[in-house]
Amino acid sequence: MFKRTDTKVVKIGDLTLGGCNHVLIQSMCNIKTSKVSQVVRQINKCAALGADLMRVSVLDEKDAKSIKKIVENVSIPVIADIHYNYKLALLAIENGAKKIRLNPGNLRNIDEVKEVIKKAKKHNVAIRIGVNEGSITSKIKEENPNLSETDLIVKLALDYIKIFEENDFNNIVVSLKSSDVFKTIDAYKKFAEVSNYSLHIGLTESGFDEIGIIRSSATLGILLHEGLGNTIRVSLSSDPEKEVLTAKRLLHDLGLYENYPTLISCPTCGRTEVNNIKLLASKVLKYLEDNDINLKVAIMGCAINGIGEGKSADIGLAGGKDQYVLFKKGKATKNVTASDAYNELIKEINDLAKTKI
Ligand code: SF4
Repeated sequence: MFKRTDTKVVKIGDLTLGGCNHVLIQSMCNIKTSKVSQVVRQINKCAALGADLMRVSVLDEKDAKSIKKIVENVSIPVIADIHYNYKLALLAIENGAKKIRLNPGNLRNIDEVKEVIKKAKKHNVAIRIGVNEGSITSKIKEENPNLSETDLIVKLALDYIKIFEENDFNNIVVSLKSSDVFKTIDAYKKFAEVSNYSLHIGLTESGFDEIGIIRSSATLGILLHEGLGNTIRVSLSSDPEKEVLTAKRLLHDLGLYENYPTLISCPTCGRTEVNNIKLLASKVLKYLEDNDINLKVAIMGCAINGIGEGKSADIGLAGGKDQYVLFKKGKATKNVTASDAYNELIKEINDLAKTKI
């Protein structure tokens, strides 16, 4: 199987994707692309949160032409999402999109695809061949009665890639998505057995809030842990900002995104003395994120077991109805009153962060 580090390298503007490069985070704007100022604001917000790339939908000429103004006002590459109309791909490239997403399920005319390839070559633009389960038409199924759905997804991608290779174009990224965890994992693994193109991994239509986050994490976590995936999108029925933060946290927890804080908090039990451990833990995490402090911090519900259970953390608090124990690397350092606990912890975190610079 071709792992992440074995994949071909792709240039997307100033970014390099694939090979030994870090896994890039991307999301997609959920505002009509022609609403330029709103789209710019959303892209810049996502970039500040950690997005490396942002995709926009191109439904018409106005959207395609809007890309020009958008790219002038953002610092990360913009990807144009194209369906059905190859002319919109040409226009998006002319207006500054650094990557185009084409769906082989709805852009099948070879002459039109060749036109897009010609234009992409001229402007040094990358192309994602984005297959998903919906790309498999009943005609394709009828023509290949012995192939499973995941085999068909992989076949569709490989057949489409041939058009690009025959036209001497290799600046390709591939995605093979489904809304089903098993099919998605299966499709990516099957593809990686036979091809070393860089992979954009994601689960499509994964749902909202915890449902989407858990389903995406189950899928992407397995793929990433097995060494697949050069760029990820966590698709949620939510704002792109949430997609970026979820992707960042997922990559960090898998050791693929450094320089990010880790917050651990205990599950609580009958020994818990802290009134609202979630409130305290989330306040501390927000402080760490807002101030770019990359420490591991523990918030634990009791001092009896919490100090030991949280010993992997650089620093932590163990509750404490009226009093908390502040500890470092599993060793109690001082007692603090409940009312002073947050401020005392933050002061110690700041001191510790200075020693780590
Ligand atoms: Fe329970 Fe204490 Fe462990 Fe939290 S740290 S789960 S309160 S024993």
